[in-house]
Amino acid sequence: MEKPRVAVHKFASCDGCQLALLNAGEALLALATRVRFVHFAEAGIVDPEAEADIALVEGSITTAHDATRICDVRARSRYLVSLGACATAGGIQALRNGRMRQGDWLAAVYARPEMLDALDTSTPIAEHVKVDLELPGCPVSPRQVMAALADLLLGVRPRREPDSVCLE
Ligand code: SF4
Repeated sequence: MEKPRVAVHKFASCDGCQLALLNAGEALLALATRVRFVHFAEAGIVDPEAEADIALVEGSITTAHDATRICDVRARSRYLVSLGACATAGGIQALRNGRMRQGDWLAAVYARPEMLDALDTSTPIAEHVKVDLELPGCPVSPRQVMAALADLLLGVRPRREPDSVCLE
């Protein structure tokens, strides 16, 4: 029987949630015996167009291109789980929301702001597509991710421990 396919997608983020997953050690190795990672760039597996049974999404939406890309990810995924503060709340990059006009903050940071395609806001994944489960944290707790994946693989609705932010 074919293993369930898992994709890990990155949007605007520091990669810390993906690194937390990579650092999960034995739990990640055990998971890899039960699923097939079809896209996980931090692990060297690159196929962003791959269909997936479960998509794990890190990062917020900060460009028009990414607003389109997350819709494509949603269309290719059976379940979508957003990982970490960037994906669930917009992240530290959302501090700009409502505070500065786009041209002002771009010019304050970048020498060639006209080269960038940035939106005025940084927004969580759930503001763009249906999200089946949100796992907060900065970074996300790998234990929560493993528990959620185990539930999804068993076909049950994932539970989220209400007090489990930043456990690890
Ligand atoms: Fe990095 Fe924190 Fe965002 Fe995860 S939630 S990508 S650790 S800034």
